Amino acid sequence: MSNEKPFAEIAGAGLAGLAAAAALAQRGWRVRVHERGRDLREIGAGIYLWQNALDALRELGVYDKVATIGAPSTTPRLLLDHRGQEVDLRRMSDWVPELIVILRTELHRILAECAVKHGAEIVTNSLVLGADPEGRLEFANGLGPKADLVIGADGVFSRVRDSLRLAVEIFDMKDGCGRHLIPRKDGDSINTRRIEMWNGGRRVGIAPTSKDFHYVFLCCPESDIQGRVQQPFNLEAWVSSHPQYREYLERLPRHPEEYWRPFFNVTCSSWTKGRVAIVGDAAHGMAPNLGQGAGVAIVNAVVMARALATSKDVPEALRRWEASERPYVERTQRMSFLYGYFGTRWPRKLLDLRSRILPLLARTDLYQRNFRVAIEHKPAI
Ligand SMILES: Cc1cc2nc3c(=O)[nH]c(=O)nc-3n(C[C@H](O)[C@H](O)[C@H](O)COP(=O)(O)OP(=O)(O)OC[C@H]3O[C@@H](n4cnc5c(N)ncnc54)[C@H](O)[C@@H]3O)c2cc1C
Repeated sequence: MSNEKPFAEIAGAGLAGLAAAAALAQRGWRVRVHERGRDLREIGAGIYLWQNALDALRELGVYDKVATIGAPSTTPRLLLDHRGQEVDLRRMSDWVPELIVILRTELHRILAECAVKHGAEIVTNSLVLGADPEGRLEFANGLGPKADLVIGADGVFSRVRDSLRLAVEIFDMKDGCGRHLIPRKDGDSINTRRIEMWNGGRRVGIAPTSKDFHYVFLCCPESDIQGRVQQPFNLEAWVSSHPQYREYLERLPRHPEEYWRPFFNVTCSSWTKGRVAIVGDAAHGMAPNLGQGAGVAIVNAVVMARALATSKDVPEALRRWEASERPYVERTQRMSFLYGYFGTRWPRKLLDLRSRILPLLARTDLYQRNFRVAIEHKPAI
């Protein structure tokens, strides 16, 4: 690196790319983000931000904005089984981590504003085709300028990752979810406690996400054809499995913005090659069951900027960053998959058994350690 500001090129202006842009720009990097879309956008849904993500957002200086706009969740979630009975997965001795649920569009806007405020440039309509390990992005008209650092934050089907042959497996879990918003009303029982209710392979979750909206997620396996029909919304199918939430389900528009989307688990041989690093779903796409995909991406972006601040040798700093962050993220991926197995894949004939086994399992140290591995992770850097 010369005495000039170090230069980073980032592919993808999703939550991971913007967090990386903000973290690097704050530490004096010249940053350019390439977004293939015509506009910067996120979907209209909510997102859970657990304590680890909130700490990283504090480091970026945007926690207060997130806390003002989002809905803090101070009471533990109510999990109900197929009979409407509470399944209590808590241990009284456990501390309750901080959680804020916020509109994705707002989080995305806050991160974009933070990156731009610190000098990052965001170029839309800029499709990246790949990268070379020496530090160049590839576009339709050839290679871009040499950068000190290139980041692939271009999602599950990352071209940057694939051009460097870093993916080992992109596993379709045959499971998925639709994410929606419904109007919030005074007197809603959900206003005071977020809920999740499981019936068969279907899961309904509802959480306040802003002063005007509740976030609703409707998860079911790919094989559940009726459950998957969420655009237009198959109200009858979801009311038949979750009649006690009819009044909330009825608030979903017949043609919601979102539809059922499949979950993918991404495994890579490495998150770095030379001067290139991959972050976010490109590196560790996971089932969203622990609400951590974006959370760990934001943490990783902040920790990467810290690692780069302590060394002028970019490939070495990236290797150190990967060694610190990858093990706990992979545990989070596995735990999220397992949680989804219980929620969606458990045999229908054994649902009562599920309700009995889960609380016992959840109270073991092994479960708690893995369930909280991302929340409690303390980066070595
Ligand atoms: C149902 C569901 C619920 C979830 N809930 C939570 C939750 O509560 N909490 C949580 O932390 N996580 C949650 N997640 C996970 C979280 O949404 C993702 O991990 C996160 O959004 C990934 O962000 P990303 O920036 O890595 O990827 P993306 O959001 O996919 O962004 C990639 C960006 O790169 C752009 N791009 C792609 N290819 C190119 C290219 N070739 N050139 C240029 N630009 C490109 C795209 O247009 C996009 O803007 C959930 C996921 C799902 C599916």
